[in-house]
Amino acid sequence: MTEGHELIVVGAGPCGIAVGAAARKGGISCVLFDKGCITSSLVSYPYYMTFFSTAVMLEVGDVPFTIPDAKPTRRETLAYYRRVVDHWGLDVRQYEEVVRIEGAEGAFTVVTRGRSGAEAKHAAAAVVMATGGFHEPNWLGVPGESLPKVRHYYHEPYPYFDQDVLVVGAGNSAVEAALEMYRNGVRVSMVHFLDGIDAGVKPWVVPDITNRLAKGEIPVYWRHRVAEVRPASVVLREESHGTETEIPNDFVVAMTGWRADHAPLRALGVEIDGATGIPAHDPATMETNVPGLYIAGVIAAGHDANKIFIENGREHGGLIAAHRLRPLSPAPGRV
Ligand SMILES: Cc1cc2nc3c(=O)[nH]c(=O)nc-3n(C[C@H](O)[C@H](O)[C@H](O)COP(=O)(O)OP(=O)(O)OC[C@H]3O[C@@H](n4cnc5c(N)ncnc54)[C@H](O)[C@@H]3O)c2cc1C
Repeated sequence: MTEGHELIVVGAGPCGIAVGAAARKGGISCVLFDKGCITSSLVSYPYYMTFFSTAVMLEVGDVPFTIPDAKPTRRETLAYYRRVVDHWGLDVRQYEEVVRIEGAEGAFTVVTRGRSGAEAKHAAAAVVMATGGFHEPNWLGVPGESLPKVRHYYHEPYPYFDQDVLVVGAGNSAVEAALEMYRNGVRVSMVHFLDGIDAGVKPWVVPDITNRLAKGEIPVYWRHRVAEVRPASVVLREESHGTETEIPNDFVVAMTGWRADHAPLRALGVEIDGATGIPAHDPATMETNVPGLYIAGVIAAGHDANKIFIENGREHGGLIAAHRLRPLSPAPGRV
């Protein structure tokens, strides 16, 4: 065992960082481990994106997020969370994955694996899982999905110039990727199994995408699913009659969402609701049904990642720190 801490936080995304800041503020000794760099989810977002939240709604740890505009870019947000880590002097161990957690409240052992492949053990009285919701994509589950031309992450339009690209999905990520590629010389089309864009698409983006689709500038296949990806084409299947259409294709950008990894929570005895995917927890403290084991951030949302995001997931840190600092009630019969 290398060292002991009052709190170990697994994941240094915005919500894990918020836990670290709240712990520091409360005088709780705390270390964070991340299998990547800090805010690695945000690092992999589209390079030129702007957040839908205003800067003030993304603030954590009482550190002001000051920008000249209302909504920050990805680069501004990355710089901001780095600043929060510095401000609170958080002990973040980057590129050190948590591979196993054993034990119980007061005596957890967190096993990590660093870049060298060597494992290390760390003792903690309590553990917070802030591992986010981007463990793996929601796979299409169709033949050809493993072809290298199928992408589950979209960063920028430039690799796709003068190519036939099919965007799968009709949420914010799909719509913004389609529009950005359309404006950068890509022959982009969209496919979605419903018959319109998602209700949650940013209101200021709706007129732009609606007009491009209505004018046929971005061809769209509503009520279709991808049936097969072939090296130079994609086969689409209509939902009601099963009619198949084959279209020329160079790349598939599947913006079908991502899912959380519940396996580590399950292994520790946390109950996961079969229908919602929400880990059993007390929303007032974020403690799971396993004493001393907490969840923070989007992992608390279950299958619906749109329910918890930075704006509300950032509050979990304060709840957890307050619970760790609560006065313990005296044992019965004692004064
Ligand atoms: C394109 C896009 C735009 C968005 N815009 C907004 C917005 O405007 N406003 C808003 O509030 N939200 C927004 N969101 C959602 C927001 O980014 C997420 O809700 C947020 O990142 C969740 O934070 P988190 O700390 O819970 O998880 P994450 O940010 O996903 O962080 C989890 C961390 O855990 C680490 N990790 C996972 N497993 C392990 C392990 N075993 N060991 C060690 N480390 C591990 C990961 O490497 C990662 O760094 C957006 C999302 C997307 C995709």
